[in-house]
Amino acid sequence: MPKPSSRISGIVPSGKDGWEVHFAAWTRKEAGEDIIMLSVGDHDFDTPAETIEACVTAVRASNHHYTPLPGIPRLRKAMAAASTVCTGIATNPDQVIATPGGQAALYAAVQAVLDQGDHAIVVAPYYATYPNTFSAAGADFTVVETPPEDGFQPRAADIRAALRPNTRAILINTPNNPTGAVYSRQRLEDLAHICREHDLWLLSDEVYWTLGGGEHISPRSLPGMAERTLVINSMSKSHGMTGWRMGWLTGPEEMISLLTNLNLVTTYGLPAFISLACAEALENGYGVKEIAERYAARRSVVLDAMHGMNNITVRGSEGGMYVMLDISAIEPDDEKFAWAFLDKEKVGVMPGSSFGDAAAGHIRVSLCQPEAILLEAALRLRRFASNYR
Ligand code: PLP
Repeated sequence: MPKPSSRISGIVPSGKDGWEVHFAAWTRKEAGEDIIMLSVGDHDFDTPAETIEACVTAVRASNHHYTPLPGIPRLRKAMAAASTVCTGIATNPDQVIATPGGQAALYAAVQAVLDQGDHAIVVAPYYATYPNTFSAAGADFTVVETPPEDGFQPRAADIRAALRPNTRAILINTPNNPTGAVYSRQRLEDLAHICREHDLWLLSDEVYWTLGGGEHISPRSLPGMAERTLVINSMSKSHGMTGWRMGWLTGPEEMISLLTNLNLVTTYGLPAFISLACAEALENGYGVKEIAERYAARRSVVLDAMHGMNNITVRGSEGGMYVMLDISAIEPDDEKFAWAFLDKEKVGVMPGSSFGDAAAGHIRVSLCQPEAILLEAALRLRRFASNYR
């Protein structure tokens, strides 16, 4: 085969060994072992029935044709209304563009603000695809860790120290995957200040915005930020629609119009019937409240079960679909801990170090299981922690 481009070769799946624990847990479960999978980030329940119905109706009603590049008008209107709530500032349909999922929104955002050789700052721990999303744009990036003892909140001084003359953007994610940290207003204001001062874009991944547990604060709402913020959103988590692949970007009208040109060479529009089902799900909030309540209840079950375990400390874990447990008092090597937990107690979790250095000595526990299973896993963890040697 002739040589592939360096852009495509530069995209390498996360080579971190931690994912091996997840794959091993998966393989053993498939082979029939009684494994509790707390390493996955996908719902254990189906998309709400009303959304499925809306899709079936749309398919039957001959919605089988090409759609406008930025999304059908009804969908953009519904996305703009959702962004008004999510970001706290009035958003019109020309300020949003539909993408096939949050990851595609992220890809488009990075392509839109970084030239080859430009530099970005990525706040860690972060979602596993971030580094490759920058590599795909030929951009360089610096990872800025957030200290666990600070609840995985970003520190302005650390971000300033990573700035370079060619820095063009900062990428953040709140509520955060993997830590569950919800960035405070003060930390977001500090970040916004740096962006204004250095004329940077802020790429704000808010795909877990409905799962934050309290008021969601989007940096787009801070003074002078709407013109320099691109918000990444998705139906995957909030509406229980991971497999439908629908997300969107919110940003300045001029940038959204440029992104429409990107769709000309990438998606060429999204499926008509999916778009209609998503519009209806957004308009009516299908599943949103129930899903948020379900994850909040699951989070409390896990956090309550951690009470009285003086060798495990909870960090972050205020929102999103995960909790982060500091297990370093038992075993500083989180990978070793995760393997032994899988082998002895048949529970699959992610070693924190798979998400960057700051999360070393932690395990990420997914809340994508019913409460009874989470309680059983907590019992197994308690037993494992007290017998560990
Ligand atoms: N951003 C974060 C922080 C995520 O955790 C995920 C998926 O897990 C995504 C983006 C991608 O979401 P989507 O399924 O909509 O592509």
